[in-house]
Amino acid sequence: LNASKATVLSHKNLDSRLKTKLPALGIDIGGTKMMAAVVNHEGMSGEPIKVPTPQGRDNILNTIVELAEKFRKEHSLSGIGIATAGIVNTETGTILGATGNLPGWTGTPIKKIIENKTMLPVHVENDANAAAFAEAQIKEFKDKACVVLLTIGTGIGGGILINGKLLRGQYYGAGHCGHIKLSMDKKRLCPCGLFDCFEAYASGSGLLVTAYEILANQSEHESSLVALANSKTLTNEAVLAAYIEKDTPASQIINLWHNHLAAGLSSLAHIFNPYCFILGGGLNSFIDLDVLTKLVQDITLPAIGEHIKIVRSEFGNTAGLIGAAQLLMESLMGPE
Ligand SMILES: [Zn+2]
Repeated sequence: LNASKATVLSHKNLDSRLKTKLPALGIDIGGTKMMAAVVNHEGMSGEPIKVPTPQGRDNILNTIVELAEKFRKEHSLSGIGIATAGIVNTETGTILGATGNLPGWTGTPIKKIIENKTMLPVHVENDANAAAFAEAQIKEFKDKACVVLLTIGTGIGGGILINGKLLRGQYYGAGHCGHIKLSMDKKRLCPCGLFDCFEAYASGSGLLVTAYEILANQSEHESSLVALANSKTLTNEAVLAAYIEKDTPASQIINLWHNHLAAGLSSLAHIFNPYCFILGGGLNSFIDLDVLTKLVQDITLPAIGEHIKIVRSEFGNTAGLIGAAQLLMESLMGPE
């Protein structure tokens, strides 16, 4: 009996060691599209598949299962890492809180549902945390005392690494940097339902609100953007194009947006004193890093401000799926 028990145990150990050598499937659930790719210990292998994010919780869950079945036909997978917006209990893989983009998502036990349907181990992570974890695998950031990642897109996400490990907080809510306050005046409503969050000013949506505010005081001959604002067809891309053409209101808009970004980064610098800020998200290419660094330094204590360093994300919009898959692989390794 003892001998057979020992055999079973050694097979189990062998099995789990083999599993961790296998790649994992990484899936990122965005507000408009879902992205999936196979990820191994070196990073993403092959191009990601993109599909539109379907309406409703059950349709999203079904799409995850379909993506897993599709990739399984060509790859042996150790499991699935899922990056999603919202506050995630990473032990149970349940969504504790989510905002507008994914209605009905709060309370969903994603890990349990997908593990039951695919019979594969699943790890669920907040998307910005997952992105930060992917960046933490880069040698330069791996052993730093603190690195802060911000995704500047439609909203603002944050992920904080302490000695290369994610700071999740006591109740999994740490790193939600988009909702620190820039004002007490209740001037701008954030998609989260609260007022004057960093996200309400410095995200892509915040930039557009700033643009409409500034253009409301201009006449059509002063800027090509005024006609777009009057017809409610203004975009961030149009603002940037006008800025490059040295349009005066466009410069005001972009400058004010950089000041909003600087206010949030300065607050974070005073709390975390990070080695660097890593900026990702669709809007990050709009940001002038030298200008932003200077603006942050101007409003930060000198001993902290002198070390302000801001870089762009290495992995772009695939960081979330890469990090989620790597976190799944790490969880399979178990305690060292
Ligand atoms: Zn908010």
